[in-house]
Amino acid sequence: MIDFRSDTVTKPSEMMRDFMIRAEVGDDVFGEDPTVNELEKYAAGLFGKEAGLFCSSGTQTNQIAISVYCQPGTEVICHEDAHIYKYEGGGIARNANASVRLLKGNRGRLSADEISKWVNNPDDVHLPLTALVSIEDTMNRGGGCVYDFAEIQRIREFCTKSGLPLHLDGARVFNALVVNGVDAKVYGDQFDSISICLSKGLGAPVGSVLIGSADFIRKARRVRKVMGGGMRQAGIIAAGGLFALKNNVDRLADDHHRAKQLEVALNQVDWVKEVIPVETNIVVAILKDSHRQEELLSGLKEKGILAVAFGTGMIRFVTHLDINDKDIEQCIQVIKELE
Ligand SMILES: *Cc1c(COP(=O)(O)O)cnc(C)c1O
Repeated sequence: MIDFRSDTVTKPSEMMRDFMIRAEVGDDVFGEDPTVNELEKYAAGLFGKEAGLFCSSGTQTNQIAISVYCQPGTEVICHEDAHIYKYEGGGIARNANASVRLLKGNRGRLSADEISKWVNNPDDVHLPLTALVSIEDTMNRGGGCVYDFAEIQRIREFCTKSGLPLHLDGARVFNALVVNGVDAKVYGDQFDSISICLSKGLGAPVGSVLIGSADFIRKARRVRKVMGGGMRQAGIIAAGGLFALKNNVDRLADDHHRAKQLEVALNQVDWVKEVIPVETNIVVAILKDSHRQEELLSGLKEKGILAVAFGTGMIRFVTHLDINDKDIEQCIQVIKELE
């Protein structure tokens, strides 16, 4: 089986496993795991931030950030398709007791203009207090599209003017940086906090890092403990993340190139109406006949290709570390044979 369902399916390479086995460890709740400490410092440093916090998942890093910024009854501004709203089990309400203002925007991306219309007047007692703006880059539901950096700068400027923190769900932030070519520190400077997934395209088995100011991370560490996220000899898994950050960033360009090849092939077959223009490693095909979704997915599966349903009438393929050029050739062959 060639698995295109998600970039989360990658397995740690031999070299990564070796690195993990040899990791120095300690009790991280005491702050004594040298590998966790190194990972947190390294990830923060890449984006010019003061501190980091290693967590079990990207849902946890996002939810911790929201809980730090939002008091009960306040409101988060995000896109209606944002992972923090759509795929985190109602955590904004459940963990932070906060409300949410869902905006629309081109392929899941917000604009400073749109955000500015929805910040509530703090003097109006009817309205929840706006406490946070959160954006996603790359945007999963937008087919892995990348923000225009100038728009991010406008959003930053607006947030600063309005006294609002800006959080980045950067599950695939390195995919964005590989495409937009912006220096990570310049990019990082636009956000108060960033959640980075180590277990997607970067290929680590477990974990995400939340980065921000030392003060923010101190508060985040307290929230992580309350959520049961304090881990002990976590250096074993943190080592996978450290290895991933040091070795698997530049190669993301290969995933993007391979995704483009799939886009070209899918655009040529009868059963596809159109492909959402590919910018990174996510390929979303819109089917001519939306009722054929299940049938086409089983057809692919019978020929050794795994993909997933992505909402009504859409099929998603994701390229990643464990997909090579031969796998792409094979997949294109199968796509063309299917009718
Ligand atoms: C995968 C993902 C996350 C985090 O998911 P976990 O499975 O909890 O690690 C957050 N945001 C986006 C956009 C994602 O794709």
